[in-house]
Amino acid sequence: MNEINKEDILNLLKEIIHPESKQDIVSTGIVNAMAMTEEGLNIVLKFTRQRDPFANSLKKQIAANITRAYPQLKERVFITIEEAPKPEPVPSAAKDVKHIIAVSSGKGGVGKSTVSTNLAVTLSEMGYNVGILDADIYGPSLPKMFGLEGYEPLAVKRGEAEFTLPAEKWNIKVASIGFFINPEDVLIWRGPMAHSALKQLIHQTLWEELDFLLIDMPPGTGDVHLSIINELKLSGAVVVTTPQQVAVADALRGIKMFQTPQIEVPVFGVIENMSWFTPEELPDNRYYIFGRGGGAECANRTGVDFLGQIPVIESIAEGSDTGMPIVLYNEKIENFYREICSKIVEKVSKTE
Ligand code: ADP
Repeated sequence: MNEINKEDILNLLKEIIHPESKQDIVSTGIVNAMAMTEEGLNIVLKFTRQRDPFANSLKKQIAANITRAYPQLKERVFITIEEAPKPEPVPSAAKDVKHIIAVSSGKGGVGKSTVSTNLAVTLSEMGYNVGILDADIYGPSLPKMFGLEGYEPLAVKRGEAEFTLPAEKWNIKVASIGFFINPEDVLIWRGPMAHSALKQLIHQTLWEELDFLLIDMPPGTGDVHLSIINELKLSGAVVVTTPQQVAVADALRGIKMFQTPQIEVPVFGVIENMSWFTPEELPDNRYYIFGRGGGAECANRTGVDFLGQIPVIESIAEGSDTGMPIVLYNEKIENFYREICSKIVEKVSKTE
Protein backbone atom coordinates (compact mmCIF):
# COMPACT_ATOMS: atom_id res chain seq x y z
CA MET A 1 0.00 0.00 0.00
CA ASN A 2 1.29 3.44 -0.90
CA GLU A 3 2.59 5.51 1.95
CA ILE A 4 0.56 8.73 2.21
CA ASN A 5 2.79 11.69 1.81
CA LYS A 6 1.58 15.30 1.77
CA GLU A 7 3.96 16.34 -1.01
CA ASP A 8 2.78 13.51 -3.24
CA ILE A 9 -0.83 14.45 -2.70
CA LEU A 10 -0.08 18.06 -3.52
CA ASN A 11 1.60 16.93 -6.71
CA LEU A 12 -1.51 14.95 -7.57
CA LEU A 13 -3.68 17.96 -6.95
CA LYS A 14 -1.44 20.16 -9.06
CA GLU A 15 -2.59 18.15 -12.04
CA ILE A 16 -6.11 19.44 -11.55
CA ILE A 17 -6.80 22.57 -13.51
CA HIS A 18 -9.57 25.07 -12.85
CA PRO A 19 -11.45 25.17 -16.18
CA GLU A 20 -11.86 28.91 -16.15
CA SER A 21 -8.53 30.23 -14.93
CA LYS A 22 -6.70 27.37 -16.68
CA GLN A 23 -4.37 27.21 -13.70
CA ASP A 24 -3.85 24.40 -11.25
CA ILE A 25 -5.74 24.41 -7.98
CA VAL A 26 -2.65 24.33 -5.77
CA SER A 27 -0.65 27.27 -7.05
CA THR A 28 -3.79 29.44 -7.23
CA GLY A 29 -4.46 28.76 -3.55
CA ILE A 30 -7.77 26.97 -4.08
CA VAL A 31 -6.35 24.11 -2.03
CA ASN A 32 -6.27 26.13 1.10
CA ALA A 33 -5.48 23.51 3.74
CA MET A 34 -4.85 19.82 4.02
CA ALA A 35 -4.52 17.54 7.02
CA MET A 36 -4.35 13.82 7.62
CA THR A 37 -6.29 12.59 10.62
CA GLU A 38 -7.36 9.18 11.91
CA GLU A 39 -10.59 9.42 9.91
CA GLY A 40 -8.94 10.29 6.66
CA LEU A 41 -7.68 13.13 4.52
CA ASN A 42 -9.24 16.53 5.04
CA ILE A 43 -8.95 19.13 2.32
CA VAL A 44 -10.26 22.67 2.46
CA LEU A 45 -10.92 24.45 -0.80
CA LYS A 46 -11.25 28.17 -0.93
CA PHE A 47 -12.43 29.97 -4.03
CA THR A 48 -11.87 33.63 -4.73
CA ARG A 49 -15.53 34.23 -5.45
CA GLN A 50 -18.77 33.06 -3.97
CA ARG A 51 -20.39 29.92 -5.38
CA ASP A 52 -17.70 29.10 -7.92
CA PRO A 53 -19.56 27.17 -10.65
CA PHE A 54 -16.74 24.60 -10.89
CA ALA A 55 -16.52 23.89 -7.17
CA ASN A 56 -18.46 20.64 -7.24
CA SER A 57 -16.83 19.16 -10.31
CA LEU A 58 -13.39 19.99 -8.89
CA LYS A 59 -14.37 18.37 -5.63
CA LYS A 60 -15.30 15.13 -7.45
CA GLN A 61 -12.13 15.22 -9.50
CA ILE A 62 -9.98 15.62 -6.39
CA ALA A 63 -11.63 12.70 -4.61
CA ALA A 64 -11.30 10.52 -7.71
CA ASN A 65 -7.63 11.33 -8.33
CA ILE A 66 -6.66 10.75 -4.73
CA THR A 67 -8.50 7.48 -4.29
CA ARG A 68 -7.08 6.22 -7.58
CA ALA A 69 -3.56 6.72 -6.24
CA TYR A 70 -4.39 5.78 -2.64
CA PRO A 71 -7.19 3.19 -2.61
CA GLN A 72 -6.95 3.02 1.18
CA LEU A 73 -8.45 6.52 1.24
CA LYS A 74 -11.62 5.43 -0.53
CA GLU A 75 -14.60 7.09 1.20
CA ARG A 76 -12.13 8.83 3.46
CA VAL A 77 -11.37 12.00 1.52
CA PHE A 78 -13.31 14.83 3.13
CA ILE A 79 -13.43 17.98 1.11
CA THR A 80 -15.00 21.13 2.46
CA ILE A 81 -15.50 24.35 0.62
CA GLU A 82 -14.89 27.55 2.46
CA GLU A 83 -17.05 30.26 0.96
CA ALA A 84 -15.23 33.40 -0.10
CA PRO A 85 -16.39 36.43 1.88
CA LYS A 86 -19.17 38.44 0.26
CA PRO A 87 -17.57 41.16 -1.82
CA GLU A 88 -17.88 44.59 -0.26
CA PRO A 89 -20.42 46.54 -2.31
CA VAL A 90 -18.79 49.40 -4.16
CA PRO A 91 -19.96 52.41 -2.18
CA SER A 92 -22.32 54.64 -4.08
CA ALA A 93 -20.69 57.90 -5.04
CA ALA A 94 -23.73 59.61 -3.56
CA LYS A 95 -22.76 58.50 -0.04
CA ASP A 96 -21.21 61.84 0.88
CA VAL A 97 -24.28 63.83 -0.07
CA LYS A 98 -26.11 65.17 2.97
CA HIS A 99 -29.51 65.84 1.44
CA ILE A 100 -30.99 64.46 -1.73
CA ILE A 101 -34.13 66.22 -2.88
CA ALA A 102 -36.32 65.17 -5.78
CA VAL A 103 -37.84 67.96 -7.83
CA SER A 104 -40.91 66.47 -9.38
CA SER A 105 -43.98 67.50 -11.36
CA GLY A 106 -47.24 65.91 -12.35
CA LYS A 107 -46.85 66.77 -15.99
CA GLY A 108 -44.24 68.04 -18.40
CA GLY A 109 -43.78 71.67 -19.32
CA VAL A 110 -44.67 73.20 -15.93
CA GLY A 111 -41.11 74.43 -15.47
CA LYS A 112 -39.68 71.66 -13.31
CA SER A 113 -36.21 71.84 -14.88
CA THR A 114 -36.20 75.64 -14.82
CA VAL A 115 -37.16 75.58 -11.16
CA SER A 116 -34.60 72.85 -10.34
CA THR A 117 -31.86 74.86 -12.01
CA ASN A 118 -32.74 78.09 -10.23
CA LEU A 119 -33.12 76.33 -6.88
CA ALA A 120 -29.67 74.82 -7.35
CA VAL A 121 -28.09 78.15 -8.22
CA THR A 122 -29.84 79.88 -5.31
CA LEU A 123 -28.75 77.23 -2.79
CA SER A 124 -25.23 77.57 -4.10
CA GLU A 125 -25.40 81.38 -3.77
CA MET A 126 -26.57 80.82 -0.19
CA GLY A 127 -23.25 79.08 0.46
CA TYR A 128 -24.13 75.40 0.11
CA ASN A 129 -22.29 72.81 -1.93
CA VAL A 130 -24.78 71.79 -4.53
CA GLY A 131 -25.10 69.16 -7.23
CA ILE A 132 -27.90 68.52 -9.66
CA LEU A 133 -28.77 65.31 -11.39
CA ASP A 134 -30.88 65.36 -14.51
CA ALA A 135 -32.89 62.16 -14.33
CA ASP A 136 -35.43 63.23 -16.91
CA ILE A 137 -34.71 60.43 -19.32
CA TYR A 138 -37.55 61.51 -21.60
CA GLY A 139 -36.31 65.02 -22.12
CA PRO A 140 -33.04 65.88 -20.38
CA SER A 141 -32.87 69.65 -20.46
CA LEU A 142 -30.17 70.50 -17.92
CA PRO A 143 -27.30 70.43 -20.46
CA LYS A 144 -29.08 73.27 -22.25
CA MET A 145 -30.11 75.13 -19.12
CA PHE A 146 -26.58 75.01 -17.79
CA GLY A 147 -25.04 75.81 -21.16
CA LEU A 148 -23.26 72.45 -21.07
CA GLU A 149 -24.40 70.87 -24.29
CA GLY A 150 -21.78 68.62 -25.76
CA TYR A 151 -20.06 68.05 -22.40
CA GLU A 152 -18.40 64.68 -22.41
CA PRO A 153 -18.00 63.22 -18.93
CA LEU A 154 -14.55 61.94 -18.06
CA ALA A 155 -14.00 58.67 -16.25
CA VAL A 156 -11.67 58.60 -13.25
CA LYS A 157 -10.48 55.79 -11.03
CA ARG A 158 -10.61 55.88 -7.25
CA GLY A 159 -8.99 52.71 -6.00
CA GLU A 160 -10.62 49.86 -7.84
CA ALA A 161 -13.82 51.71 -8.66
CA GLU A 162 -14.43 53.84 -11.70
CA PHE A 163 -16.37 57.07 -11.48
CA THR A 164 -17.61 59.73 -13.83
CA LEU A 165 -16.73 63.35 -13.29
CA PRO A 166 -19.72 65.68 -13.19
CA ALA A 167 -19.60 68.91 -15.15
CA GLU A 168 -19.24 72.05 -13.08
CA LYS A 169 -20.95 75.37 -13.66
CA TRP A 170 -21.59 78.29 -11.31
CA ASN A 171 -20.11 76.14 -8.54
CA ILE A 172 -22.70 73.44 -9.12
CA LYS A 173 -21.88 69.87 -10.06
CA VAL A 174 -24.05 68.74 -12.93
CA ALA A 175 -24.70 65.23 -14.21
CA SER A 176 -27.24 64.60 -16.90
CA ILE A 177 -28.49 61.56 -18.67
CA GLY A 178 -28.31 63.95 -21.62
CA PHE A 179 -24.49 63.85 -21.52
CA PHE A 180 -24.71 60.21 -22.53
CA ILE A 181 -27.43 60.29 -25.15
CA ASN A 182 -27.96 62.02 -28.36
CA PRO A 183 -31.15 64.12 -28.11
CA GLU A 184 -32.51 62.28 -31.17
CA ASP A 185 -32.00 58.92 -29.47
CA VAL A 186 -34.02 59.75 -26.37
CA LEU A 187 -36.98 57.64 -27.43
CA ILE A 188 -35.10 54.41 -27.92
CA TRP A 189 -33.54 54.93 -24.51
CA ARG A 190 -36.76 54.20 -22.70
CA GLY A 191 -36.94 51.01 -20.75
CA PRO A 192 -34.15 48.92 -19.29
CA MET A 193 -31.33 50.74 -21.06
CA ALA A 194 -32.38 54.06 -19.61
CA HIS A 195 -32.77 52.50 -16.19
CA SER A 196 -29.30 51.08 -16.10
CA ALA A 197 -27.82 54.32 -17.43
CA LEU A 198 -29.66 56.19 -14.72
CA LYS A 199 -28.46 53.81 -12.05
CA GLN A 200 -24.93 54.32 -13.23
CA LEU A 201 -25.41 58.07 -13.23
CA ILE A 202 -26.69 57.96 -9.65
CA HIS A 203 -23.98 55.76 -8.19
CA GLN A 204 -20.96 56.49 -10.32
CA THR A 205 -20.96 60.25 -10.55
CA LEU A 206 -18.18 61.56 -8.38
CA TRP A 207 -20.25 64.05 -6.38
CA GLU A 208 -17.85 64.12 -3.40
CA GLU A 209 -19.15 66.09 -0.45
CA LEU A 210 -22.37 67.93 -1.12
CA ASP A 211 -24.93 69.62 1.10
CA PHE A 212 -27.66 69.23 -1.49
CA LEU A 213 -28.18 67.05 -4.49
CA LEU A 214 -31.29 68.04 -6.44
CA ILE A 215 -32.80 65.48 -8.75
CA ASP A 216 -34.67 66.75 -11.76
CA MET A 217 -37.16 63.90 -12.05
CA PRO A 218 -39.02 62.89 -15.18
CA PRO A 219 -42.60 64.22 -15.18
CA GLY A 220 -45.38 62.01 -13.89
CA THR A 221 -45.29 59.00 -11.64
CA GLY A 222 -43.62 56.27 -13.66
CA ASP A 223 -41.27 53.46 -12.79
CA VAL A 224 -38.23 55.74 -13.13
CA HIS A 225 -39.47 57.42 -9.97
CA LEU A 226 -39.64 54.13 -8.17
CA SER A 227 -36.17 53.18 -9.25
CA ILE A 228 -34.74 56.52 -8.06
CA ILE A 229 -36.58 56.13 -4.78
CA ASN A 230 -35.11 52.64 -4.42
CA GLU A 231 -31.58 53.62 -5.37
CA LEU A 232 -31.24 56.71 -3.23
CA LYS A 233 -32.17 57.79 0.22
CA LEU A 234 -34.21 60.88 -0.53
CA SER A 235 -34.51 63.48 2.23
CA GLY A 236 -37.66 64.76 0.59
CA ALA A 237 -39.38 65.94 -2.54
CA VAL A 238 -40.75 69.20 -3.85
CA VAL A 239 -43.47 69.23 -6.45
CA VAL A 240 -43.74 71.93 -9.11
CA THR A 241 -47.06 72.88 -10.63
CA THR A 242 -48.64 75.74 -12.51
CA PRO A 243 -51.84 77.38 -11.23
CA GLN A 244 -54.01 75.68 -13.87
CA GLN A 245 -56.58 73.12 -12.84
CA VAL A 246 -55.29 70.56 -15.35
CA ALA A 247 -51.86 70.76 -13.77
CA VAL A 248 -53.29 70.51 -10.26
CA ALA A 249 -54.82 67.08 -10.81
CA ASP A 250 -51.48 65.71 -12.04
CA ALA A 251 -49.53 67.38 -9.25
CA LEU A 252 -51.87 65.83 -6.68
CA ARG A 253 -51.11 62.41 -8.11
CA GLY A 254 -47.39 63.21 -7.92
CA ILE A 255 -47.60 64.21 -4.26
CA LYS A 256 -49.68 61.17 -3.35
CA MET A 257 -47.11 58.88 -4.94
CA PHE A 258 -44.46 60.12 -2.49
CA GLN A 259 -46.91 59.80 0.37
CA THR A 260 -47.92 56.18 -0.24
CA PRO A 261 -46.93 53.96 2.70
CA GLN A 262 -44.52 51.84 0.61
CA ILE A 263 -42.63 54.96 -0.47
CA GLU A 264 -43.03 57.50 2.33
CA VAL A 265 -40.74 60.22 1.06
CA PRO A 266 -41.52 63.46 2.92
CA VAL A 267 -42.98 66.05 0.57
CA PHE A 268 -41.42 69.35 1.59
CA GLY A 269 -44.03 71.23 -0.35
CA VAL A 270 -45.44 72.63 -3.56
CA ILE A 271 -43.86 75.32 -5.71
CA GLU A 272 -46.22 77.13 -8.05
CA ASN A 273 -44.50 78.25 -11.23
CA MET A 274 -45.85 80.72 -13.81
CA SER A 275 -48.13 82.14 -11.14
CA TRP A 276 -48.66 85.52 -12.77
CA PHE A 277 -47.24 87.64 -15.52
CA THR A 278 -45.55 90.96 -14.93
CA PRO A 279 -44.80 93.00 -18.04
CA GLU A 280 -41.38 94.66 -17.95
CA GLU A 281 -42.93 98.09 -18.41
CA LEU A 282 -45.45 97.59 -15.58
CA PRO A 283 -43.31 95.96 -12.88
CA ASP A 284 -45.98 96.29 -10.19
CA ASN A 285 -48.79 94.69 -12.13
CA ARG A 286 -49.68 91.04 -11.85
CA TYR A 287 -51.77 89.27 -14.46
CA TYR A 288 -52.92 85.81 -13.47
CA ILE A 289 -52.94 84.44 -16.97
CA PHE A 290 -53.05 80.77 -15.94
CA GLY A 291 -55.64 81.17 -13.18
CA ARG A 292 -55.04 81.39 -9.47
CA GLY A 293 -54.55 79.19 -6.46
CA GLY A 294 -53.59 75.87 -8.03
CA GLY A 295 -50.42 75.45 -6.00
CA ALA A 296 -52.05 76.33 -2.70
CA GLU A 297 -54.92 73.97 -3.50
CA CYS A 298 -52.49 71.08 -4.10
CA ALA A 299 -50.77 71.80 -0.82
CA ASN A 300 -54.03 72.04 1.12
CA ARG A 301 -55.53 68.91 -0.31
CA THR A 302 -52.49 66.80 0.52
CA GLY A 303 -51.52 68.42 3.81
CA VAL A 304 -48.12 69.65 2.62
CA ASP A 305 -46.67 73.15 2.73
CA PHE A 306 -46.99 75.72 0.02
CA LEU A 307 -43.40 76.82 -0.54
CA GLY A 308 -43.95 79.77 -2.84
CA GLN A 309 -44.70 81.18 -6.25
CA ILE A 310 -42.57 82.12 -9.25
CA PRO A 311 -44.04 84.49 -11.81
CA VAL A 312 -43.88 84.17 -15.56
CA ILE A 313 -41.26 86.55 -16.78
CA GLU A 314 -40.13 86.72 -20.36
CA SER A 315 -36.52 86.65 -19.29
CA ILE A 316 -37.00 83.34 -17.44
CA ALA A 317 -37.70 81.65 -20.73
CA GLU A 318 -34.86 83.53 -22.35
CA GLY A 319 -32.59 82.64 -19.47
CA SER A 320 -33.22 78.94 -19.59
CA ASP A 321 -32.82 78.88 -23.32
CA THR A 322 -29.51 80.70 -23.30
CA GLY A 323 -27.97 78.82 -20.39
CA MET A 324 -28.16 81.63 -17.83
CA PRO A 325 -30.52 81.02 -14.91
CA ILE A 326 -32.69 84.02 -14.07
CA VAL A 327 -31.62 84.18 -10.42
CA LEU A 328 -28.14 85.17 -11.56
CA TYR A 329 -29.32 88.47 -13.00
CA ASN A 330 -32.80 89.25 -11.68
CA GLU A 331 -32.83 90.13 -8.01
CA LYS A 332 -36.61 90.17 -7.73
CA ILE A 333 -36.87 86.59 -8.94
CA GLU A 334 -33.86 85.60 -6.89
CA ASN A 335 -35.73 86.74 -3.79
CA PHE A 336 -38.65 84.46 -4.61
CA TYR A 337 -36.24 81.57 -4.95
CA ARG A 338 -34.36 82.49 -1.77
CA GLU A 339 -37.57 82.41 0.19
CA ILE A 340 -38.40 78.95 -1.15
CA CYS A 341 -34.86 77.70 -0.53
CA SER A 342 -34.88 78.96 3.07
CA LYS A 343 -38.01 76.90 3.67
CA ILE A 344 -36.36 73.84 2.11
CA VAL A 345 -33.26 74.32 4.27
CA GLU A 346 -35.48 74.51 7.32
CA LYS A 347 -37.31 71.35 6.28
CA VAL A 348 -34.13 69.33 5.79
CA SER A 349 -32.70 70.51 9.09
CA LYS A 350 -35.67 68.79 10.73
CA THR A 351 -34.81 65.52 9.01
CA GLU A 352 -31.22 65.51 10.36
P1 ADP B 1 -40.37 70.93 -17.44
O1 ADP B 1 -39.05 70.58 -16.88
O2 ADP B 1 -41.46 70.91 -16.43
O3 ADP B 1 -40.72 70.17 -18.67
P2 ADP B 1 -39.09 73.37 -18.30
O4 ADP B 1 -38.38 73.83 -17.10
O5 ADP B 1 -38.34 72.71 -19.38
O6 ADP B 1 -40.33 72.46 -17.90
O7 ADP B 1 -39.88 74.62 -18.85
C1 ADP B 1 -40.68 74.57 -20.01
C2 ADP B 1 -40.57 75.92 -20.74
O8 ADP B 1 -41.18 76.91 -19.94
C3 ADP B 1 -39.14 76.35 -20.98
O9 ADP B 1 -39.05 76.97 -22.24
C4 ADP B 1 -38.89 77.38 -19.89
O10 ADP B 1 -37.98 78.35 -20.30
C5 ADP B 1 -40.27 77.97 -19.68
N1 ADP B 1 -40.49 78.47 -18.31
C6 ADP B 1 -40.41 77.77 -17.18
N2 ADP B 1 -40.71 78.54 -16.12
C7 ADP B 1 -41.00 79.75 -16.59
C8 ADP B 1 -41.40 80.99 -16.00
N3 ADP B 1 -41.57 81.11 -14.69
N4 ADP B 1 -41.59 82.07 -16.81
C9 ADP B 1 -41.43 81.94 -18.14
N5 ADP B 1 -41.07 80.81 -18.75
C10 ADP B 1 -40.86 79.73 -18.01
